[in-house]
This record gives sequence, C-alpha cells and structure tokens, in this order.
Amino acid sequence: MEKKINDSCISCSYTTGKDQSVGGQIYATQHWIVEHAFGMSLPGFLILKTKRHIEEADELHPAEAREMGMVLQKVTSAIRFVTGAQKVYILKFGEGVRHLHFWVFPRTAAVRRQIGIGPKAVALISKQYKVGDMTAQNIKAIGRTAKAIQIFLNKKKTRTTT
Ligand SMILES: [Zn+2]
Repeated sequence: MEKKINDSCISCSYTTGKDQSVGGQIYATQHWIVEHAFGMSLPGFLILKTKRHIEEADELHPAEAREMGMVLQKVTSAIRFVTGAQKVYILKFGEGVRHLHFWVFPRTAAVRRQIGIGPKAVALISKQYKVGDMTAQNIKAIGRTAKAIQIFLNKKKTRTTT
C-alpha cells in the first residue's frame, strides 16, 4: 500500500494537524489543500499542496492532475477578488520543503511600486515577506485575508466556458 504521509515532512505535519500553520487550512478538495504559506507575512500568500506526500508533478495521479487546474483557477480568482492583485504569481520549487506545493500569491499595485514585477520581484517578495516570528498584526492580517479567501472559495462556483 502506498504511504500517503511522510513523518519527517513539515507540509504533511500541517495536513495531519500535528503542527498548525498561521492562517490554517483554507480550503480542501479531494486531492489538494490550500493553506497560508508557512513563514510568509504577506496576506494572501498561499500554497496549494497535494494531500499525499509526493515531490514532483510527474508523480501526480491523473485525478490529482485534473483537479489541480480547477483548484488553481479558483484560488487565483479568490486572491484577485480578496487582495485586488493585478497579477497572481504561481511558482513551484520544492528546494526547502520537498512536498509538492505551489506558491500562489498576489502581486498588487503596491508591490509593483515598491518592489517591481517578474522574477526579480519574486525573489524580493519571498525575502521581504519571509519572517521568523510573526507579529500579532501580521497574524491578524493573514487571518482576515485567509478567512475572506475561504468564504470566496466555498461560495464561488467554478467558472465554465461554453
Ligand atoms: Zn509531505
């Protein structure tokens, strides 16, 4: 039988509830979980991760791969609606936490003014908003945004084109 959880993986420890991330679990489908990204102070900086422990996209089962597109669409829509982002950036590295996950996060007008856009901006965003210790204000802002995104995701039907 396939092992679904890796006991030494931080991402799996959030899935099982062994550890609790700031913002908590926002949304889940049959195969995917959406959470606020661990250690990131930018509200709306989310991760989309698989429920089972895998490390690369070519390990996805067909049903997981199909569902991924739908979830990315919904999460992008939620981030745009809630944060007013001009762009939603989606990235996958897996260098720090190996569990397959995508960063999905807002690039707002303020970020464009203060930091810029594109790959250089991503490096700065991930550095500027990565914090060891969250302030109470960070935690409140993350919680408010996570809740608004959760409400949006639970209400919004997937957009269909005909
Ligand atoms: Zn894992």
